[in-house]
Amino acid sequence: MIYFHAPMHLSIRKELPRLSTVVVKIGSRILTAPGHEKRVAGLVGDLGVLHASGLRVIVVSSGAIAHGMETLALKKRPSAIPLQQACAAVGQYRLMRRYEDFFAASGIRIGQVLLTWDDLRSKKRYFNLRNTLFQLLDLDAIPIVNENDSVGVEEIRFGNNDILGAQIALLAQADLFVNLTDVGGLYDRNPHTDTSARHIPVVASMSTFIRKMADDRMKEISVGGMATKLKAAEIVSRAGIYALIGDGFDQSLRDVLSKPRSATLFLPQRRRMSSRHRWIAFTGQSCGKLIIDEGARAAVVKRGKSLLPAGIRSVTGAFKAGDTVDIDTQNGKTIARGMANYSADEIRIIQSCKTSEIASRLGEKPFDEVIHRNNMVVLVSLPSPSAAPSAD
Ligand code: GLU
Repeated sequence: MIYFHAPMHLSIRKELPRLSTVVVKIGSRILTAPGHEKRVAGLVGDLGVLHASGLRVIVVSSGAIAHGMETLALKKRPSAIPLQQACAAVGQYRLMRRYEDFFAASGIRIGQVLLTWDDLRSKKRYFNLRNTLFQLLDLDAIPIVNENDSVGVEEIRFGNNDILGAQIALLAQADLFVNLTDVGGLYDRNPHTDTSARHIPVVASMSTFIRKMADDRMKEISVGGMATKLKAAEIVSRAGIYALIGDGFDQSLRDVLSKPRSATLFLPQRRRMSSRHRWIAFTGQSCGKLIIDEGARAAVVKRGKSLLPAGIRSVTGAFKAGDTVDIDTQNGKTIARGMANYSADEIRIIQSCKTSEIASRLGEKPFDEVIHRNNMVVLVSLPSPSAAPSAD
């Protein structure tokens, strides 16, 4: 591959580990607000530097609807879904053409990947998509991912690319998810209305942070779509991935990666999980609930055991064997998720009974456990926030 510039040294914040795969989410305003030509050229230049330094880079880009509006001369973002979808159909093509022109200057190839929730929730499609992304990366291309807005009906739409970006970071086993927006991350107050607002450079513990912010201040810092950005950062950090929310509007990607005042860094909240566990915990749709007693909760959370029928008090939903379900305590807290070995109807027959009684109640006993430990992810009592992530 020919580069038109020598790869520059890439400096990153000292809290970040050596990176191998990075997902960068780019919001529409960065791509279309006045000054966009220069901004996008700078951004693509920085992405090129990351790529040239040997990193695997995936871009999750918004902007289809905004580009479509421009082409179709619509002044206001349409609220009707068919018109939004038509805009996206027109705009996605323009968006990609722009990326192609910009990246071509650095000799970098790109590939378009358009998705809906359905593509991620189906385990088969999820793992196929993963192969496609890895293949593109192996070919030295930069995948550019967006929601497939023109086919998405309400139930399968992400609606915004923050969560899509987080899901792609999980899928691609990224080390870092960078969410570029028009503010330099989180502030303890609304920086637009309060000049004494202080920037938050690092969030070490997501649960402490959310607990502390679970008051009016949360509303304040959630302006401008910060709530979904925070949610996206929470998902990846709980899966063991670093996240940055930073200013890609007035500042550069390079600043966001290197300067604490340009972004908020979220440290991983646990060791990295396997891809299957990540899918179970954060992507697959929960098809029902198993409500368990205190003994089963302690066995699952404290002693790392499988879930047996004895501890199950009730079942909600109509799921099949192999579906993903939540495991809840009797006071409604979801403590784990897993893939059930039995259907909802079968579990209703064997709930509260001993494992030795499964065969007589069901006529067969293919499994001792309702959810085997290997197919379960505990969502509470996470290890210390500073736990270093391990390799997948
Ligand atoms: N997928 C939408 C688009 O490309 C953007 C959603 C968002 O702004 O996050 O226009």
